Amino acid sequence: MDDYPTVITVMWLPALAYSLFGLILGSFLNVCIHRVPRRESVVWPGSHCPRCGVAVRPYDNIPLVSYLLLKGKCRSCKGPISLRYPLVELSAGIAFYACARAWQLTPPTFVNSLFIGLIIVLALIDYDHQILPNVFTLPGTLIGILLSPFQDPALYREAAARAVAVSLSPESPETMLPWVASLLGAIVGAAFILLTGFLYQIVRKRQGLGMGDVKMMAMVGAFLGWRLALLTIFAGSLSGSFVGIFLIRFRGESLQTKLPFGTFLGCGAVISLFFGVPFIHWYTRTV
Ligand SMILES: [Zn+2]
Repeated sequence: MDDYPTVITVMWLPALAYSLFGLILGSFLNVCIHRVPRRESVVWPGSHCPRCGVAVRPYDNIPLVSYLLLKGKCRSCKGPISLRYPLVELSAGIAFYACARAWQLTPPTFVNSLFIGLIIVLALIDYDHQILPNVFTLPGTLIGILLSPFQDPALYREAAARAVAVSLSPESPETMLPWVASLLGAIVGAAFILLTGFLYQIVRKRQGLGMGDVKMMAMVGAFLGWRLALLTIFAGSLSGSFVGIFLIRFRGESLQTKLPFGTFLGCGAVISLFFGVPFIHWYTRTV
């Protein structure tokens, strides 16, 4: 522990306090998910009920709390408020809590919180509209590269070690400059998903994924590095296949049903973020 004098050991209470920022961010993510695909401004006008158009009062706009107090109904028209809103806020809150527990209140926590925020927006916009807007993926890739020095691999390993209570040996330190490693991650992520799409096209004889998925994976690679980018594609494809098989088998959907691959990649990215490093370590030691 002496090697990390700046690390503050975050117990559950400070992590819970940090998760409040996640709830607030989640509220803004809802605005982005709803408005960006409709090409509306995310700052103006303020929140309003999509049914009756009445502006949401500030005291009705408290993440999670307002939904519960209003019992999921608009104060003016009594129309139902989508359960999606509190769920997104809650997810962001839980994600922030998990980051704070995994990396303490250190730079990787803040970088990864931002990353998860981007992933939530992309996953849900892809689910709703089958698009992954450039306005998130391209700046996201750039931000991932620029912030990569704050993803201190030493801190990262330390946190991962703590998370699974195994001591990781100090072998194979990341010797590359963070920016180079991050750029490599972006290139590998994008290239590998392109290859996956190409193979899919040969096997299924139709286009399986779009350029949005490629740019999203560039972003994931920029934030997580090339190893976790590959794991993301693997986990995303696997979960997508399971859901696809389930839909065909039990819901009678046809083989042509188009699944939002970005949503599955998003799930894969979050799984890889929290469990990827210990998994790769376990895998390379076992196999
Ligand atoms: Zn209303």
